[in-house]
Parts: sequence; structure tokens; C-alpha cells
Amino acid sequence: MKAKIARVQLDIDYLCPNCYLHFRLTNSEIPRNKHISQSCPACKEPLKISPISLETSACRSSVITDSETITLDSDDSLRAIKALQSQGYGKKEAQARVRAVYKNTMSVSDLIMEAISYEQPA
Ligand SMILES: [Zn+2]
Repeated sequence: MKAKIARVQLDIDYLCPNCYLHFRLTNSEIPRNKHISQSCPACKEPLKISPISLETSACRSSVITDSETITLDSDDSLRAIKALQSQGYGKKEAQARVRAVYKNTMSVSDLIMEAISYEQPA
């Protein structure tokens, strides 16, 4: 049998970059969808707290913060992705196509053309 998740207990310690105080947010205090602002409990510095998404699937669990999202796209790829999006591609598909054909020797317009004509493997 497979264990089901009954409850998620989440504590995150934050560090105030102004006074170096550590403070902790627990469960529902942790923002899930959008940034929240919270004053540092010690120095009252207003701090922006990034939302955390908790992703659970059959084979992995991970905590992802948006500050940890690493983008591998160069400026040219980002331009090409935007161009594809303006052609009606969804963001994920535009990224997948551009990443599949990207070479750093390509011009942006070539990148766009290649990405649009890219046949995704079935
Ligand atoms: Zn502080």
C-alpha cells in the first residue's frame, strides 16, 4: 500500500538582510500564490516574501521558490519565446520549441523560424 499525505508541516526560516535576524513562518503564514510583505520583527524593515509552491507527485517531492527558478534562456531565446507566444503558442510550448532548436550562433529571426517549423517528437 502507498502512504497518503495526511498533513504537510512546513517551516521556513527567513533572514532579514538588514539586521540578520532569523524569523520563521509556518504553514499558512507562508505565501503560496503571491508575494507578501512583512516587516522584520526586529528592525521593522519591510521585507518581500516570495511564494512557495509545494509540488508532490508519485516519484518526487520538492519545494520550489520562485527565486530558485533558474532560467537557462538567453536574451535571444526569450525574445523568440515572446515572438512565438504572440503567434498563439502557449508559454510552455514556445519555451520547448525554442530550447529544442536554440544554438547561440543563430539570429533571433532564425531562431523564431526554426522554432515555429520544429516538429516535436511524438
Ligand atoms: Zn531586520
